[in-house]
Amino acid sequence: MLLGCIADDFTGATDLANTLVKGGMNTIQSIGVPAPGMDVGKTDAVVIALKSRTNPAKDAIKDSLEALAWLRERGAKQILFKYCSTFDSTDAGNIGPVADALLDALKADFTIACPAFPETGRSIYKGYLFVGDVLLNESGMENHPLNPMTDANLVRVLARQTKNEVGLVELATVQKGADAIRARFEQLRGTGVRHAIVDAVMDNDLIEIGRAAKDLALITGGSGIAMGLPGNFRSDGVLTDSFQAALPGIKGRSAVIAGSCSKMTRAQIAHTRRNWPSHNIDPWDIASGKDVVTGVLAWAEKEGADTPVLIYSSADPDEVKAVQKEFGREKAGAMVEETMGEIAKGLLSQGVNRLVVAGGETSGAVVGALDVHALRIGPEIDPGVPWTEAIGGVPLALALKSGNFGAEDFFEKSLGMLS
Ligand code: ADP
Repeated sequence: MLLGCIADDFTGATDLANTLVKGGMNTIQSIGVPAPGMDVGKTDAVVIALKSRTNPAKDAIKDSLEALAWLRERGAKQILFKYCSTFDSTDAGNIGPVADALLDALKADFTIACPAFPETGRSIYKGYLFVGDVLLNESGMENHPLNPMTDANLVRVLARQTKNEVGLVELATVQKGADAIRARFEQLRGTGVRHAIVDAVMDNDLIEIGRAAKDLALITGGSGIAMGLPGNFRSDGVLTDSFQAALPGIKGRSAVIAGSCSKMTRAQIAHTRRNWPSHNIDPWDIASGKDVVTGVLAWAEKEGADTPVLIYSSADPDEVKAVQKEFGREKAGAMVEETMGEIAKGLLSQGVNRLVVAGGETSGAVVGALDVHALRIGPEIDPGVPWTEAIGGVPLALALKSGNFGAEDFFEKSLGMLS
């Protein structure tokens, strides 16, 4: 293994793995820290997907250090800690505390923090993070229920999460190229800076930053920072092949499970419902004790022989609010997620082995219910979402997308690629 990655959430891990595959690295995503004996075969990169973004910092540190130990044992030459491109975190962490713990464990004294991803509108200038045309704290992220981002200055944000010094590599330096960036790293390190926010507004900036970070034991950032890393391993002569991802060669029935209530997923459902049989899962039915799972599985068995079936709980914000008001946000979410997991299990036993799932938490619930522990990453469907194939267990092709990803025809497009 060349690159070992620790991602703080599930669909973010897939996004990173997708970037590495596009860069020609054979990549596997593990769901949680792999069991000690798990065989990942021959691979250039492993991305361990944790669920540590919003956990208490001490738990996030513990999980991240366990992931690090596994990756180092397998010979990872460099470690990448991946978080959200909107720097999702609070003053209590977890980006600063986890980065500090990883640096300590690696006996390293300097790393970078660069969540920029221009392709998805995330750019950093003078340390300020922009989302599209606006500052992070005007992008809607200031209202995030778990980690409201009310300050767009990442030097200040990160400084509140670590007792160590935080510095900045400005765009003027970045655009001079890798040598200038590396010299600035050395200068900052020499003045006791342990974390450097790095400006980037274009893909090429990320590639130069990646080149400059070649000898850092730890890199932290969004999936964009991975763009320049395959080239480093290539220039060192340790990455000789350019991995060409293949579609999962799996024949069988197909289904879509959607638990995301995001605007894009709802548009995707509206688009696909016109062409495919579809079935709505109503949280009020689940709560009333109705056997929703048996009902939908009987329907799918009948409908799904030739056409994919679409099963969704997705609802508009007013309906979601009403459900959350009655049952509480967490309980409502968990109740629907558990049902979607049970449905996925039932579909698998009906011979469905091509499955598209919409929603980050929903994807986590489905892979958990299906007992999937690792995924081989295949070709990209839409930006940030690849086809994957479960490793071990029954043959299963999975496309797992976070709510807002993918174009309106994502469901048809993804399953169309396999036919
Ligand atoms: P996204 O990627 O869009 O954030 P997630 O799957 O991560 O999607 O989150 C959506 C959450 O909403 C899940 O916990 C899911 O169980 C829950 N949910 C789905 N449908 C409904 C509904 N009709 N009412 C309330 N909550 C719902």
